[in-house]
Amino acid sequence: MNKFYVHTFGCKVNQYESEKIRRELLLCGMREAKELKDAGLVILNTCTVTSRADADARNFIRLCSKNNSKVVLTGCYAQRAKEYLSKIDGVCCVVPQDQKQRIVENLLSAGLVLRISNARVDTLDGIKNHTRAFLKIQDGCNRFCTYCIVPYVRKELYSRNKNDVIKEAQGMINKNIKEIVLCGTHTGLYPHLSDVIEDIIKIEADFRVRLSSIEINEIDDKVLKIAVGNKKFCRHFHIPLQSGDNEILKKMARRYTRDFYLNRIKEIQQLCPDISVTTDVIVGFPSEKESAFHNTVSLIREANFLKVHIFPYSKREGTPASRFPEQLDCSIIKQRCRFLAKISRECSKKYLKNFRGKKVDVLIEKNKEGFSYGYSSNYIPVYVDKQCPANEFVRVRISEEYKNGVKGEIDETD
Ligand code: SF4
Repeated sequence: MNKFYVHTFGCKVNQYESEKIRRELLLCGMREAKELKDAGLVILNTCTVTSRADADARNFIRLCSKNNSKVVLTGCYAQRAKEYLSKIDGVCCVVPQDQKQRIVENLLSAGLVLRISNARVDTLDGIKNHTRAFLKIQDGCNRFCTYCIVPYVRKELYSRNKNDVIKEAQGMINKNIKEIVLCGTHTGLYPHLSDVIEDIIKIEADFRVRLSSIEINEIDDKVLKIAVGNKKFCRHFHIPLQSGDNEILKKMARRYTRDFYLNRIKEIQQLCPDISVTTDVIVGFPSEKESAFHNTVSLIREANFLKVHIFPYSKREGTPASRFPEQLDCSIIKQRCRFLAKISRECSKKYLKNFRGKKVDVLIEKNKEGFSYGYSSNYIPVYVDKQCPANEFVRVRISEEYKNGVKGEIDETD
């Protein structure tokens, strides 16, 4: 029988969903290929957040085709472009995002699996090849930011039952998972987010919980209080900025102003000085003038971010922004991205400098090139000049900046 291989593009939610598909196929009696080249059947879980993500999926299909593998597409791109994708050579079945949960039934109808199991994979106890386990708590978004395709491809708003989430977290901890990342398409829409975090960190074991991303106007004081008071909740927030210019923010239909964003960040940093903040920025949104771009640059300089993820604006057909006048030339967008990348590197360095001589707890993920490597609670990439076992916490005294993070030595003294 054909072996299968699951490949994922996109966010942590997609990775969580891919792991469920993988386990369901195993329950159907399918065998998994270790490598793509050995797979007769490839499940490609796609993303469509940018045109780059779409192109990555098409290139991957081409690669599978050369390998004579049958390709099943699912995920957000499959939702948005089912007809177009089903005509591509090598694609034998397209299962849109809204049918992903029933993917094995679709595969059975297409004759790609011979039987399906009555058992379902309701919870996960980890993600293959990942030290950190992603735990999906929510799906969908109804905010309709004007550039974003997500509300069109993940329409249904859905929050998981709190008890199910806690049960899943407990199962992960029982399997010795040391870091659980709570994720969703729009995690701030999860009702009583602080309650679910509190209940998970009450579980007695050596582990920590991280929030994948949250909007600035959705970090309530309760969540902040947990971040300040409980070491089991990671001192790191990923808070998308998108633009530092009020006019652009308004055109994006983001629900905050530049001042609100900056003041709240400063408040958070004052309450919890060792917290880190990372962010996303879109460069070259339609009508972004040089002055608007510089408002973003100045905010970034002021906000003391650990890292800025830079996204060149990507026109998504069907979104309001794709019809806005004054779409910017690619060359301007590229130039601004390059400039912003330089500013972002300077800001990271400045942020990391403050940690020289300080101690952080690092969850080791892998050993590479003579170093052990992992992340601190505040999401600093840390390199340790010693072989340490993976999936263990070690206390590290930071000596200096190194590569994309810092390096240091083990120091277990208090
Ligand atoms: S909040 Fe805005 S950017 Fe985020 S997923 Fe929803 S529509 Fe997209």
